[in-house]
Amino acid sequence: MLDTLFPPHCLACGADVMQAGLLCATCVSQLHLITSPYCHRCALPFPSRAAGGATLTCTACAENPPPWREGRAAMVYDDLPRQLILPLKYADRTENATLLARYMAAAARGLVEKDSIFIPVPLHRVRLFTRRYNQAALLACALARTADRGQRPA
Ligand SMILES: [Zn+2]
Ligand SMILES: [Zn+2]
Repeated sequence: MLDTLFPPHCLACGADVMQAGLLCATCVSQLHLITSPYCHRCALPFPSRAAGGATLTCTACAENPPPWREGRAAMVYDDLPRQLILPLKYADRTENATLLARYMAAAARGLVEKDSIFIPVPLHRVRLFTRRYNQAALLACALARTADRGQRPA
């Protein structure tokens, strides 16, 4: 009924989609998801099918290791992710957090466990007051829910 009154739209471009909270096929095709091979510390994708599996380390991380053991990134931050993330941060499009968290969960597969704890980067209290929400906390909560249910991005 609600879908008839308010047909679901692609979160990025606004095209009609079958189900709310998703991207259309065109926008999905524009995502550059980061898949193996990538640096296991900072998730920098390597351009070729380099050997080494999950233990590849980029030159920057090898020379100056970050203070964490493993890092993942869901996608290259280019035009399409920008259309999802900037509205999440600055235009109250909080529904984008659920979709983004599904991609984050897929990227973090193997690192996230049922008892994992998700800690968002804090937002300065002045910014929190003006924005009314912490987008990192929304992502962390959505990621925790997604990881707990083992969901995959559509
Ligand atoms: Zn679209
Ligand atoms: Zn790296």
